[in-house]
Amino acid sequence: MRLPNFCKFLFMPFLLVLPLMGEQVVETGDTQIWQSRPGWVSNSARHFSVEVIDGIRFTIDEIGMGMKWVYYPQDDINIEDTGYVSFMYRARSIPVWNEYALSLGRGAASPVYLTELIDDGCWHLAWASVDGISSVDAVNLHLQVDRSGGFMEIKDLKFTSAKPARLLDKEIDILSGLEDSAGYEFLPIMGSIASGDWFTRAGYESGFPSEEVTVSGIPFKLSGNPVKHMETGVENTGQIEWRHNFKSECLYLLLGGYFNGDETPSIGYRQRNKTSMPDQLAVVIAYQDGSEDFLFPARVESGVHCISSGLGAYYVNLSDNKQVSKIKFTDNIRNGSLAVFAMTAGKSIELPAQGKPNNFITPRPKIRSGSMRQVCGSIDIRYDPDGRLYSIINRDLAAQWLKEPAYIFETDTAGKDLEGSIKVNELEDGQVGVSLTLSNKTSKDVKFSVKFPVLSGLNPGGSSSALSYFFPGRTNLISNENTYVTSDYSGYFPFQFVDAWHSESGGVYINANDSSNKKKRFWLDKDTDIEIGCEYQELLLKPGQTITLPQATIAVHNGDWHESLEGYKKSLSKWYRPAVSRKQWFREVFNFREQFLHYSWPVPTGAFDKDTKELVLTDMVETDIQAFGGVDYLHVFDWTWTPEHGRVGDYVPWEYLGGHEQFASEIAKLQQMGIPVGLYFEGYLASPKSAVGIEHGLEWRMLDANQKRYTKYGDKFHMCPVQKDWQNHLISRVVGTSELLNADGYYLDQFGFSKQYRCFNRDHGHEIPTDSVLTEMEVTKRLRCQSPLSKESVIYTEAVPTDVTSQYQDGSFTTTVRQMRFHGRYGCASLARFVIPDFKIFEILVVDKPTHDDFEGIKLVFYNGQGLWLMGGAHQWYSPEVRELIKKTHSILRKYRDAFTTDNPVPLVETLRSDVSANYFPSETEQVWTFFNFGFEHIKAPVIEVEHLPGSTYYDCWNGRPLEPEIREGKAVLTLGIRPRDAGCIVRKQK
Ligand SMILES: [Zn+2]
Repeated sequence: MRLPNFCKFLFMPFLLVLPLMGEQVVETGDTQIWQSRPGWVSNSARHFSVEVIDGIRFTIDEIGMGMKWVYYPQDDINIEDTGYVSFMYRARSIPVWNEYALSLGRGAASPVYLTELIDDGCWHLAWASVDGISSVDAVNLHLQVDRSGGFMEIKDLKFTSAKPARLLDKEIDILSGLEDSAGYEFLPIMGSIASGDWFTRAGYESGFPSEEVTVSGIPFKLSGNPVKHMETGVENTGQIEWRHNFKSECLYLLLGGYFNGDETPSIGYRQRNKTSMPDQLAVVIAYQDGSEDFLFPARVESGVHCISSGLGAYYVNLSDNKQVSKIKFTDNIRNGSLAVFAMTAGKSIELPAQGKPNNFITPRPKIRSGSMRQVCGSIDIRYDPDGRLYSIINRDLAAQWLKEPAYIFETDTAGKDLEGSIKVNELEDGQVGVSLTLSNKTSKDVKFSVKFPVLSGLNPGGSSSALSYFFPGRTNLISNENTYVTSDYSGYFPFQFVDAWHSESGGVYINANDSSNKKKRFWLDKDTDIEIGCEYQELLLKPGQTITLPQATIAVHNGDWHESLEGYKKSLSKWYRPAVSRKQWFREVFNFREQFLHYSWPVPTGAFDKDTKELVLTDMVETDIQAFGGVDYLHVFDWTWTPEHGRVGDYVPWEYLGGHEQFASEIAKLQQMGIPVGLYFEGYLASPKSAVGIEHGLEWRMLDANQKRYTKYGDKFHMCPVQKDWQNHLISRVVGTSELLNADGYYLDQFGFSKQYRCFNRDHGHEIPTDSVLTEMEVTKRLRCQSPLSKESVIYTEAVPTDVTSQYQDGSFTTTVRQMRFHGRYGCASLARFVIPDFKIFEILVVDKPTHDDFEGIKLVFYNGQGLWLMGGAHQWYSPEVRELIKKTHSILRKYRDAFTTDNPVPLVETLRSDVSANYFPSETEQVWTFFNFGFEHIKAPVIEVEHLPGSTYYDCWNGRPLEPEIREGKAVLTLGIRPRDAGCIVRKQK
């Protein structure tokens, strides 16, 4: 006999689960029951804590790190008769991360995802269905943070049979009546929508407890009986506004966020439930003097700028002593609305502190006045030939960087019997070269890895918080917070240096300086001190053999991380030689359009009619030009697809396409319009139906370490790029296509990352396993240097490859901006674009999904002066407002293309404000600074001081107006108006 839920609980009194009518509350509030599981995450934090605040709080005190915790109940929790799990939580500093926050059972069903958590520091309800789960033997929690001090606090974890209802007083601090209304002015709103409906729609069990309420200590008077409010359209954009005459320090807003669709995929995953983007929702305050403040409200409770799903008290600060004349709320999203329930003007209150120091504010070293700098003489290294370093001194700043003696190389256990010695010689600019020679004097083969160079115990003394670092990966990390990060030299870490620096002692960096693409990885470890290093991997020495690794450099500098970047660029100039010269026309491509002949993303382009075999590219491109303000390059993705042979492998779709002549003539038409055309090829894959797949797939495909085929792309053959026959096939098809179609560019998909595949196929006769860095280079180099492919055409790949490999191509795509913003990284600079400026990079904000209302993504690409990769139906996948923004950024980038294609761009130059970052793009006659306001203040203030060149004029090209800077002591101080989370752009012109 099955007992009703509540009866069953009566007979189970010994669980840590406390039975209530129709629900089971899991008692999670004991810190002892949570076991940390560092082995369950790849980036496990070393500094974390579990403590009881209101709920149980899990905190990580390192940047970019994570942790999992598990709770094993004494007895399995029987949830057969429940349908839902829910908990209350509050959180801060969680990156966009598409893995679970809470999962159940040892099999880890994943009901709540990290990406669904609203990390505004306020309480929210999370819930999920637990259908199909009958009992729970483990409760797993997972936290990732993008700032030291990031946390997740949970309480009221329970299983219920009914769908969890939202309770106002659980989420916010709400009281009936006006607790203290002295000094506040209540601004009436003309509400027209019954608020009860809003609460039902938002999933609340009930609405306001009374017509006067105090929320988070702020008194609000609601209007109407029953209460009515104003709201922007859920499925429409729009605005609501009131005329109000008042003056105060602060405007408090009782707002309701409502979202009913998916998050835009370039912004996050799963359901939209919040926004921090003023371009999406904003408050505009108009003053009687004609000025306006464009603002984004912050939560009173936490001070965090985030409008989230549900009711909350918010505030915006008003301009001092100005008479307000109008309040406007704007809504630029099509799957949500902003409801305004009440407004109260009043004095600023003391807001909660924003937690730990912001990693955006990094100290900048100061060169001590009067110190003399001697070129070649600023570094003083003491060492012995066995590889022990005794000191690394920055002589200009009298800073000893090495806390105690340490070895500059270290082999793994396999290499312990090798004999090593180093040679040190002085180079220019405060650098020394260090060479390591290793000999195998044993009688056996030694396969080993060696860390070289490695600098550990770096700390010049003083405050550890002034000790910072620069780890220049695809998602580069510039911070002073503790962390450990490692990355293979590949598309994920394409450069070869790592820097440690300090606000008073300058910096020290290593540069592996290897022009031969050897397999290696780099790491950075900051705890109390810093360790930076490079490790050469999978080296082989036969008996009697000796190897000398590429001469690494160690350098000191007197400034911040920019100096290691400049030093690295200088070292590249010694060996970096593009195989063919880079093309200015390609560098001037800013709107990079990917289009389709056959596929629907999400609708057919109409370029090819399969019945009549008519192919017309120009109409499709004309539509795109109208939509985006210009198409600088057309990249045709699926030209090679046929129903018979699939998408990739053969590249001879001529019969299906109605002949190559027609395609060639359409390409020629676009070229006459000044639009170059590029064609897609796959570096690794061949469709199972392709002729090459049928004939050679089994022979040429890669096998993994278990001698199994790769299945990353389903049943496609994953060909081995070391196979000369596959290389010959791919190269001959690119060359053959170029002869027929005379396109301008050729793209190799999947190339650039250089770490997805290793081939262990014993029949291939190559070394096992292969190293994708070397094999991708070999293919690209053969195509570029040893094939008849026109040197005027461009070759590009999916990711930015290693610096060495990049010499054999002209550019690539990247997802740097996406990765940087998802992980909340400082400055959001797309580094590769600044290190090798003539290597053209196109930013992919999101693949195969819409860009909809992602204003900020477009602006961040612009701020990096980068090309923008545009995919999908212009009218289906880009909101009209975002298309207007793309027109604007494109026109500025094209107009000042001389500056944006400079060989000397500088990322993150010094500004006058810590919330504003700037990049610098100088040409001979005009110099451009792009800006991004990472803060939430509508800035109307000096933002940058630049050298004033006599006769120069200054122009704000973001807002289209001339600037009259204040000139003092040879400097121009430039004042800008920059809205919160907005871009800016200034050009200085010489006559
Ligand atoms: Zn192979």
